[in-house]
Amino acid sequence: MLQDIAVNPDSSVDSKPVESSTSTYPADLLAPVDAMAVSEAPLSEAGRSETIATIQSVVERDLNPKVQAIDLEGEYPDQIMHKLGASGAFQQAVAPEFGGEGISLKGAIQSIEEVSKACLSTGFIAWCQVACTWYLQNTHNQALKAELLPKVASGEVLSGTGLSNPMKFFAGIEKIAIKATKVEGGYILNGQLPWVSNLGPGHYFGVVAQHATDDSSLMAIVSDEMEGVSLRRCGQFIALEGTGTFACVFRDAFVPENYLLADPCENYIEQIRPGFILTQVGMGLGLVAGCIQLMQRYQRRLGHVNCFLDDQPSDLEAELTAARQHAYGLGEELDQLDGPISKSLMRDVVQARLTAGEMSVKAANAAMLHAGARAYVHGSPEERRLREAYFVAIVTPAIKQLKKMLYALTKEG
Ligand SMILES: Cc1cc2nc3c(=O)[nH]c(=O)nc-3n(C[C@H](O)[C@H](O)[C@H](O)COP(=O)(O)OP(=O)(O)OC[C@H]3O[C@@H](n4cnc5c(N)ncnc54)[C@H](O)[C@@H]3O)c2cc1C
Repeated sequence: MLQDIAVNPDSSVDSKPVESSTSTYPADLLAPVDAMAVSEAPLSEAGRSETIATIQSVVERDLNPKVQAIDLEGEYPDQIMHKLGASGAFQQAVAPEFGGEGISLKGAIQSIEEVSKACLSTGFIAWCQVACTWYLQNTHNQALKAELLPKVASGEVLSGTGLSNPMKFFAGIEKIAIKATKVEGGYILNGQLPWVSNLGPGHYFGVVAQHATDDSSLMAIVSDEMEGVSLRRCGQFIALEGTGTFACVFRDAFVPENYLLADPCENYIEQIRPGFILTQVGMGLGLVAGCIQLMQRYQRRLGHVNCFLDDQPSDLEAELTAARQHAYGLGEELDQLDGPISKSLMRDVVQARLTAGEMSVKAANAAMLHAGARAYVHGSPEERRLREAYFVAIVTPAIKQLKKMLYALTKEG
């Protein structure tokens, strides 16, 4: 249920109704899975390169002309998301029997990176969609997985993730925001999340709720079309306005058992967390590549003076190449992982995500300095990238959380 009331009393209220993009829940969810086009085997490296090339063409043809409208007018690119889905952008870490290309976190990072090169708003919601495929891919709830994963992986159904709160809870930063009370056939949820993106009528998203009776939690897939779930507009952001971001309120919301991803979910969260964090690196890699491209535009005309600046495109390119190889390599390591992640591998994942956040801010700052006054004109691409870069730095896990996690992982040895 969508409402146009702001959940935060400080935020400005936009009373425009939310436009629908998909409304397939719940009848369509019950459609047989064999109605989906599913591939037979994991895709080869060459096949994956073809997917990336197809994503690039969607970015060039459909996304590039819309970047300003997404950024400045808050246009939510639902049709572009469906096209990205059709091009395979969300199938990279999904098993073939569920319509995916086989598990490749490297492929998932690359897809998000390609989109983020042009637009971080769309890059972020592409990550949200990938995160939801990751939750479904890793659940033991086979019926939910069979019904929903092919639709999320193909981008037919759009979906998000409300996991900032639990990710911060498990890092010892805040309390779980939603409470779950067991009732016959499911749970009643109460609480609210201030921001969840890639939402609209009939979209799905993952949430964690704490059992009312003990300290353990469950994770489930929910939708605004469930009784008692409502989406409310947030205050205006400095960037990422076109991400379909809403406050989500749960007021005696009934979530049926068949929508549970894990109950209790502590071990499951441990399992999904490395992929959750690592795939976000794609946002940073894409954003930095976009900033380098902008800086190169000024090399011929302004290189004689820009050469005095600390951060040169060639320096950033070298850092980007190293960060990219590191992240791709970690993706391949995680794909091979059979059992709990080691502390040292987790440290590397956290460090890769931290590097992505820090490098984003550095590259966007450098792009501003290289472009000079042109970048200071409202609507310039450098100004947009600067605003976007801070999102990579503050979205959960934010730089401060990553540093806390690194400290804890190092202390534990
Ligand atoms: C554009 C945008 C999109 C986002 N999309 C998602 C998403 O898809 N899924 C998701 O789970 N999270 C999402 N978030 C939340 C984000 O990941 C962080 O959790 C959030 O920015 C707070 O993190 P922090 O480290 O700054 O929190 P901290 O500094 O540790 O604490 C800030 C806390 O204060 C509260 N708070 C602060 N300001 C406000 C406010 N204006 N309104 C309400 N509460 C407030 C919140 O509870 C917040 O957790 C989004 C945030 C933004 C800005």
